[in-house]
Amino acid sequence: MARRIHVNGIVQGVGFRPFVYQLACQNHLKGNIANTPGGVSIFLQGPLKYIDQFLDDLKEKNPPLSLITHISTENETVRNYGEFTIQESRSGEEMATLIAPDISVCNDCLKELFDPKDHRFHYPFINCTNCGPRYTIIDDIPYDRPKTSMKHFKMCSRCQTEYDNPINRRFHAQPNACAACGPHITLLNTEAKPLDSSDPITETSNFLKQGQIVAIKGLGGFHLAVDATNEIAVARLRRRKHREEKPFALMAYDLDHITRFAVVDPPDEVLLISPQKPIVIVKKREDHFIAASVSPNNNYFGVMLPYTPLHYLLLSQGFSALVMTSGNISEEPLCIDNQEAFERLGNIADYFLVHNRDIYLRSDDSIIRHTAGYTNFIRRSRGYVPVPIFLDQECEPVLACGAELKNTVCVIKGNQAFLSQHIGNLENIKTDAFFKMTIDHLKRILNTEPKIIACDLHPRYLSTQYAEELVGIQLIQIQHHHAHLVSCMAENRIQGPVIGLSFDGTGYGSDGHIWGGEVLIADLDQFKRVAHLNYVAMPGSSMTIKEPWRMAVSYLYHTFGESFRDLSLPVINAVSQAKMDVLVKMIQKGVNAPLTSSLGRLFDAVSAIIGQRFEVHFEGQAAMELEMMADGILDTSYDYEWVYEAGVYLILSQPIIEGIIRDMLSDKPKSHISAKFHTTLICLFADLCGKLRSETGHNRVVLSGGVFQNVILLTHLKAQLEEKGFMVYAHQLVPSNDGGISLGQAVAAATLAKKGSI
Ligand code: ZN
Ligand code: ZN
Ligand code: FE
Repeated sequence: MARRIHVNGIVQGVGFRPFVYQLACQNHLKGNIANTPGGVSIFLQGPLKYIDQFLDDLKEKNPPLSLITHISTENETVRNYGEFTIQESRSGEEMATLIAPDISVCNDCLKELFDPKDHRFHYPFINCTNCGPRYTIIDDIPYDRPKTSMKHFKMCSRCQTEYDNPINRRFHAQPNACAACGPHITLLNTEAKPLDSSDPITETSNFLKQGQIVAIKGLGGFHLAVDATNEIAVARLRRRKHREEKPFALMAYDLDHITRFAVVDPPDEVLLISPQKPIVIVKKREDHFIAASVSPNNNYFGVMLPYTPLHYLLLSQGFSALVMTSGNISEEPLCIDNQEAFERLGNIADYFLVHNRDIYLRSDDSIIRHTAGYTNFIRRSRGYVPVPIFLDQECEPVLACGAELKNTVCVIKGNQAFLSQHIGNLENIKTDAFFKMTIDHLKRILNTEPKIIACDLHPRYLSTQYAEELVGIQLIQIQHHHAHLVSCMAENRIQGPVIGLSFDGTGYGSDGHIWGGEVLIADLDQFKRVAHLNYVAMPGSSMTIKEPWRMAVSYLYHTFGESFRDLSLPVINAVSQAKMDVLVKMIQKGVNAPLTSSLGRLFDAVSAIIGQRFEVHFEGQAAMELEMMADGILDTSYDYEWVYEAGVYLILSQPIIEGIIRDMLSDKPKSHISAKFHTTLICLFADLCGKLRSETGHNRVVLSGGVFQNVILLTHLKAQLEEKGFMVYAHQLVPSNDGGISLGQAVAAATLAKKGSI
């Protein structure tokens, strides 16, 4: 028997050919394997049962960095092969293949790293075809060493021999290196002067143990590290970094170390040890010994395992855990360049552990929280990018510019959507340059020049302005909450119409108001707004985001009129008469008080009304704390109602706020009020979906938007809807927050363009 097998996906430069070679030999098959523009082509001959076994193994045992998207087989006539061979690839043949993400050091390399007899013993840049840097060191395609930041290092003969040997684990591993020929680390002081040290790792760990802050150059950028058990050191890092309460990420040597301070459920464990090594949000143990200021007012830690050999060498020096927070100042992009690090982090770090392998593209650590059976991405970046989202349709090339905050961009090519790494907050000028650089880089490595560009409706977004300035390209604007829903539909490979719940903090609405508590009947290319939370004023506009007490006042005014000032509530007592007068005037006159239907702002208001948080130190803090204090959900809810007005259902906030005030005045605990508030939203939206189903016949509900990072809401709303017989779709591959917006914009624009409706 003979078969021709074509395999598409990420199958080049990831050890695929040696893997197939070994698989063929194990199954006593003859033939060959060669790289082709679209993937690899395998010719196999031998008994059918062995060919079948080979195909099973191919699907199940493929190398960790590879991703098979398609396998096709066809019959062939038997030829005279005496053995199985790997054919040399001709130049230019690797153009059309996918680039692998950066992946954690593999177990084989780890063994060598800690084996005193191995010639790469303690070498911090050990890697092979199954692991190591990829996306962050690639400047252009084809993916060959001269197109990566490894071009400055000429392989020694020993490394070259491995690189050339088709059955070696380092066959065509572009970053292959050893201490004799590859990159090196150096420990420097704040004046960029190298310290006289023969063992920079031990020296660094000594500094960390003394409570010093060390900037450490990693895979996708710099981290700032301190000993996570040293309260004084952690507090100092917070002060210097101007980061008040947003949790710091931790890194611990292995699972055993993590379970000493956090509760690791089986799904968390799977995520933690996965080759992507994301930061996973896990529950704090009551008896944990981590410094309090690592994650203040929070029941959770964000924790990850080491993912580079350098991390392993450091963590093996006896730390319970290190704080490994991004090497930046507040919302700026990560530092990636050594010189840049001294300039920007010089006032934060005491020492710098750097290396001379350049990072071409910064990539932050990914953050995941496992919720209700879902892999909930809070940030999708290192380890996952640039693995595409596979669409159920072929599209014209599209570039989508994403949202203003948590920005990512997306390029569609064929049926694949390439979502970029986390770019950040575009209000920041440094981020703007990174945004443009990422777009150029994506277009280059995908070898595509989109003729359609998608962006938000907001006229003042930098990304909108960028899109408008491009010439010779068709501009399509996609409404923010529609984009949220389409991103969820795209990754679930469904088309409309669906009932879409799009809940977040802020998004520019088609009517010019600020939306965020939206129920849309959505298709990929269009939507109808069928229900939303009633509008209330945001007195102080964007200041309300940092100061939830303003939203509390607005909701109280909306509910009770001026008489709200007679209520005896902590949030009212905390504000001076004069300040309250100004705020009420702003609301009444609509001065600097845009209208919003945002559910995120309602969470903020409730948090302030119950006296939990009047001001926040990071986005979403009030809502997060409100969620954490809730003791599950209850059998009872506050009253809720909606009214039909001008073609939409207006969801009234008054009965909910009235109920909360009643509970406040009868001294109900915050945990109870929060639980009842969550229960109310769950019952309300489950009921509303039922009503919409009876009117429209649509039985599929799509959940998207940053508010769905709320575990209670996601878990119980999904359960209630399923109980009512709905098909419910949530995010698993891209964030439900604004990090997923670019995917939705891209797919919506591509669908519009295809239908010729633009
Ligand atoms: Zn390896
Ligand atoms: Zn070497
Ligand atoms: Fe949003």
